[in-house]
Amino acid sequence: MGGVALRRNLVLFGPPGSGKGTQAELLRERYELDHIAPGDMLRQHLSQGTELGQMASGYMAAGKLVPDEVIVNMIRHRLEEGRADAGFVLDGFPRTVAQARALQELLTNLDRPLDIVLVLDVPVSALKARLTLRAGQEQRQDDRPEVIEERLRVYRERTEPVLEYLAGDVPVLHIDGSSSIEEVGRELLSLLQ
Ligand code: ADP
Repeated sequence: MGGVALRRNLVLFGPPGSGKGTQAELLRERYELDHIAPGDMLRQHLSQGTELGQMASGYMAAGKLVPDEVIVNMIRHRLEEGRADAGFVLDGFPRTVAQARALQELLTNLDRPLDIVLVLDVPVSALKARLTLRAGQEQRQDDRPEVIEERLRVYRERTEPVLEYLAGDVPVLHIDGSSSIEEVGRELLSLLQ
């Protein structure tokens, strides 16, 4: 596996627990894409105790979104620092319509437009089961039941509308994200052939 460069700019979209992080890693390995995940970046800031991490921690622990301006700046720097010759997969961004607008403007300026949005669809009951299971395996403070509810509510209210916004500019493809990691991975790869 690995080694096939694919200069494509993707958004991997889906609710918390839909498997974005896992599948984005697969795409990174397979196609040498730059994997850009604000959630991972924020957790790194948190563990290093940076000012940004301290500022974001309360929002994250409560399942709320970190303010757009903070996230957009972080992603801008990350895209500007990253390899301009590689494609990228965005995982967990954009999560609001304002972030999507900022992203489109940023990518236009960098001359690296989005090629495709891939959506992992998973029923809410399965999401809750997965996130609850993960709570027992990983030390994530946002996998407590009431915080899971809040993250799903935020997804429905603030993040889902992003799809409609992006669909005006970019092809949006839906994938059944409820099957096994391997099956979802196969389907994703087949869509990118
Ligand atoms: P999940 O997709 O499972 O919710 P993430 O690791 O993507 O997990 O995000 C964890 C938390 O980090 C979010 O609940 C939120 O507080 C913050 N976060 C991540 N991405 C964004 C974003 N694009 N905008 C605002 N906050 C974000």
